Amino acid sequence: MGFFERAGRQVEKFKQTAKEVADDNADYQCQSCNARFNANDDQCPECGSKEIVSTRAGE
Ligand SMILES: [Zn+2]
Repeated sequence: MGFFERAGRQVEKFKQTAKEVADDNADYQCQSCNARFNANDDQCPECGSKEIVSTRAGE
């Protein structure tokens, strides 16, 4: 296995971890499909539902 191949795998792993952290920190969640996102939209970017709740409500 070459250096670049190894480095590429680590980048992929890092990107996966970063995405999971981003999901955990998402400020909004769709009540219809449970998608999480940070954008302050009045519609879910995944399914278009308007059942959006803030995940920060308890803080
Ligand atoms: Zn949704």
